[in-house]
Amino acid sequence: MPRILIVEDEPAISESLAYALKRDGFEVSQAGTLIAARAILASAELVLLDLMLPDGSGFDILHEARRAARGPAVIILSSRDHESDRVAALETGADDYVTKPFSPREVVARVRAVLRRAGARDPSVREPTSEPPITVDEPTRRAAVRGRAIELTRVEFDLLACLLSAPGRVFTRAQLIDRVWGDGFAITDRTIDSHVKALRRKVLEAGGDAGLIETVRGVGYRASDQPDG
Ligand code: CA
Repeated sequence: MPRILIVEDEPAISESLAYALKRDGFEVSQAGTLIAARAILASAELVLLDLMLPDGSGFDILHEARRAARGPAVIILSSRDHESDRVAALETGADDYVTKPFSPREVVARVRAVLRRAGARDPSVREPTSEPPITVDEPTRRAAVRGRAIELTRVEFDLLACLLSAPGRVFTRAQLIDRVWGDGFAITDRTIDSHVKALRRKVLEAGGDAGLIETVRGVGYRASDQPDG
């Protein structure tokens, strides 16, 4: 089973996560400081990362994980009142975040989802999946809901393609602007929201699930993990 590294200086949180993960069969390592985390980072496949540690910021670990060629996936353990940290973490390349206080079971479910996505990117461990409810084909710029083509505008197509490139991952509005419009465009959040609204309506009209594109309040949007709904 994959090794999960918990980087968290509050023993009660660290212990409850370790207990839940071990019960689910994961191998677990724990670190309460940046120094301890660095020493074992290379052996981890996924890191649960608190941002405020006694000897510095968890962002340092996130940067190191992203710089490594086959670095671990990272899920941020964030405090409710630090939304800007959460956005910054996602923009730095964190795979997901959970907000304290959280249930260890929720965290275990997120760990499984992130590892599944990481596995999906690695052909050696790809598992067969059922036909996804929605597909985009970038070369032909065609999108379909359960095999039925839907007509999208350029922006709607690019938004959908971006979200579906990493199901389950949250994209901030700034990231979506960057990918869909590119640099230098003055696009407001409301503009994005209205394109997403139109996209959802078209998916719904084609017999798809409008909930496929989830709003993550205060952050942005994500495509739900399709195989599990
Ligand atoms: Ca802390």
